[in-house]
Amino acid sequence: MPLTATLEDIKAYQQKVEKNKINPHGLGPCPRCNLESLFFKLHAYRERRFLVIVDMLVKAVFCTLVRFRCTDCGKTITSYPDFAIPHKHYTRQTIEGLCRAYVENDQKTYQDAVMTDDGVPERAVSGRMLAASSIHRWIGTLAELIRADQDALKKLLQEKLAAQLCRHLGPIQIPEKKHKTSHRKGCLLWCRWFFKIQAVLKNSAFTEFAIRSA
Ligand SMILES: [Zn+2]
Repeated sequence: MPLTATLEDIKAYQQKVEKNKINPHGLGPCPRCNLESLFFKLHAYRERRFLVIVDMLVKAVFCTLVRFRCTDCGKTITSYPDFAIPHKHYTRQTIEGLCRAYVENDQKTYQDAVMTDDGVPERAVSGRMLAASSIHRWIGTLAELIRADQDALKKLLQEKLAAQLCRHLGPIQIPEKKHKTSHRKGCLLWCRWFFKIQAVLKNSAFTEFAIRSA
């Protein structure tokens, strides 16, 4: 995974903003009054500074973010591009990549995590190196976001799994010659469905299921 959003990513988003291509439809409902986001109106443009890493140098690049306003209660909501995390200047890829390097490797210290294959990124202007304490702080922020949003995350996971399962299963049919009654047809369809999902679950699903039912 690249350690940063690229200048191209940010430029592409800036062009979308300038061509009025950012709409509120992907946003959730208003957090204050629950109005659907498709009723939001454009409110303001705000310039934000992002920090990207180019050849181990941290460079500042500006990009415009769009704010929408809830037409019911007046709350303003910022639309964030995929590379942005609210209140953070480093891009999502950097924050995610470095936090992950620390969290997923039992041997890594914060000091190790800030050290990439090519060295420690440093600020283009001041020459100051990316601090290990930044990763410590980011992990705190990330955990807070996850905790606050855990229900939404679980829902997302369920939806993704259900969609994957549907794709995997396809339509289920049973030939006419195998049944004389619609009741028997139903039994066969249920079983065929069960054996298909068993491949997705695991081999012992039948035993587990039988124990649970008993
Ligand atoms: Zn509202």
